[in-house]
Amino acid sequence: MRILIVEDEDDIALAVKRGLEADGFAVDTADNGVDGLWLAQNNPYAAIVLDIMLPGMNGYKVCATLRQEQNWTPILMLTAKDGSLDEAEGLDTGADDYLTKPFSYVVLLARIRALLRRSDRTLSQQTAELAVGDVRFDQRTRQVCRGETEVELSPRALAVLEYLMLRAGEVVTKRDILENVWDHAFEGDPNIVEVYISRIRQALDAAFDRKAIETVRGAGYRFASDGG
Ligand code: CA
Repeated sequence: MRILIVEDEDDIALAVKRGLEADGFAVDTADNGVDGLWLAQNNPYAAIVLDIMLPGMNGYKVCATLRQEQNWTPILMLTAKDGSLDEAEGLDTGADDYLTKPFSYVVLLARIRALLRRSDRTLSQQTAELAVGDVRFDQRTRQVCRGETEVELSPRALAVLEYLMLRAGEVVTKRDILENVWDHAFEGDPNIVEVYISRIRQALDAAFDRKAIETVRGAGYRFASDGG
């Protein structure tokens, strides 16, 4: 899942980006409102973290413009300290939630996950669990089980698996996976995807003598809709 951070304070942007990436998200950043708006208009983000005081165009304007264009991507606004007025204005322009600086990363992550849960219609409203066959992926705890057995995977591998499961039954290309799991600016070797697919297969398929992930020659991969 891709998240956009629009924040002109480099240290905050970088810290949030690193944290989210370590938790398996793909992250794009913009350091001004104009670029932030353009990225938001042209990419399918799962959520946007939007600072208010930005060069070029402020966060209120970015948010209001997106909503006018019927773009309902969940937006978490970052407000300045003691900004009770900011908060009201932020929600008024169509932000979904706000967070006052300085904030702890743990709180930010919890808020983002809450926004994703609320917005993701593919999830059950209460459980935030993906289930395909006997494979269950709890998106809150990032815990995966095959049957009753827990499957251990790194955050990045979990993000790849999550994407495959969200599109279970469909052929997913390496490019789809890269664009949704790595960030927009990824320019490394696309074959990195194979490395993660191989790890997931070992942990989720080989270990159970099952086959959930099929290679579709020349096209990509398909997560079996019955869980393999
Ligand atoms: Ca700022």
